[in-house]
Amino acid sequence: MTGLYERESRSVSTLAHLRFFPQAVTGGRGSMLRGDDGHDLLDFAASWGAASLGHGHPALAEAVNRALTDQAGASYLSTANEPSVLLAEKLLSLVPERAAGRVWFGHSGSDANETVARAVVAATGRPRIISFKGAYHGGTVGSVAISGHPAQGGIDKASGLSLVPYPDSYASGSPEAASKAALAHIEELFATSVSPQDVAAFFIEPIQSDGGMLVPPPGYFREIERLCRKHGILLVCDEVKVGLARTGRLHAFEHSGIEPDIVVFGKGLGGGLPISAVVGPEAIMNHASTFSFQTLHGNPVCASAGLAVLETIERENLVANAAKVGDTMLSALRALQEKHPVIGHVRGHGLAIGVELVSDREARTPAIEQTALTVYRAFQLGLVIYYVGLNSNVLEFTPPLNLSEEEALRGIAILDQALSDVEAGKVDPQLLERFAGW
Ligand SMILES: *Cc1c(COP(=O)(O)O)cnc(C)c1O
Repeated sequence: MTGLYERESRSVSTLAHLRFFPQAVTGGRGSMLRGDDGHDLLDFAASWGAASLGHGHPALAEAVNRALTDQAGASYLSTANEPSVLLAEKLLSLVPERAAGRVWFGHSGSDANETVARAVVAATGRPRIISFKGAYHGGTVGSVAISGHPAQGGIDKASGLSLVPYPDSYASGSPEAASKAALAHIEELFATSVSPQDVAAFFIEPIQSDGGMLVPPPGYFREIERLCRKHGILLVCDEVKVGLARTGRLHAFEHSGIEPDIVVFGKGLGGGLPISAVVGPEAIMNHASTFSFQTLHGNPVCASAGLAVLETIERENLVANAAKVGDTMLSALRALQEKHPVIGHVRGHGLAIGVELVSDREARTPAIEQTALTVYRAFQLGLVIYYVGLNSNVLEFTPPLNLSEEEALRGIAILDQALSDVEAGKVDPQLLERFAGW
């Protein structure tokens, strides 16, 4: 444990902590973070995907510096500012036509999803929302209210919320079985307790990331899209973690061949600065003024960061890089599966990858403690990864979009060593005492 980590514990509240090991950093460059003890860490988490261009990218630094040097105010509440207009225009050009109405800016995925949840109900007059068990749409009252992640147990849900199961191909034995069961659940819901005419919106994650990096079965979201169109339900796609190049496509929903009505962006959009965006039809997005705002929304410095991120994704071909390096990682991880029986399933698209750890491959029993020990050991060996999933047994990889092949393989070699060390009983479970994870 380093000096900085100890000092933090004496000054900083734990309320926002989600800790897996005593990581303390003083700087970073590219895919590397500099530990407080002088050791470099290869960052395969990128702060949950938010550091989409890695750390200290010159294009981002230049854009932020320029925006601050000639600062167009601090907000878009009571004035138009150039960076937020440019970013809105850019985002409109990137989404399917049905969503390309108007853009709302916030600070986080949480305030964005909360705003959508309120706006769709207010604008359509329909009181109900559907989302998935295991879904993570944010940490504010209004975004928790439409989420289904077990880490948020005990917090009230929206009164009109229905949570339906997200298809889990691995747990169900096959994608077909997973898809069929999940769709049957929705049909049952519509046939019994929920009238589809009362549903304003269906919130989806195109890959359910915090729920376990679940990749939807082929064709599943086409069926959800068909149901939404049939009943006039708005399809809201939460691209906060896996959108904007991460999956090897610009939008993660492209893998499913669907066109959402409303798209929510966050995390990687700011490249490390706080900004989120909702893009959707004018009838929803212009429902009313003073409907959802915080003082620093539409901040021109953050908007400039967002623009720089989108321009860098294009200029540096980061969609293609995520696809290519992601394929390398998926193959290398599948090769590791031969060596480590604890690896039950490897899944993902591009640089959004999950590795599910099980203590028994037949029964698919979650290897909960091994998962926590593995990320801890990887950290000790110089690799940052966290875990997700309803059972806390899925290693999550969301590295910077410009990760190189060499870095990818270097990180997986560290993971290989960490898994071996945990298997050999070299990692003391007592290390986990202060690190509950989630
Ligand atoms: C992280 C996340 C959010 C919430 O974003 P914050 O920036 O933490 O508020 C919403 N949706 C998804 C899919 C996320 O991964």
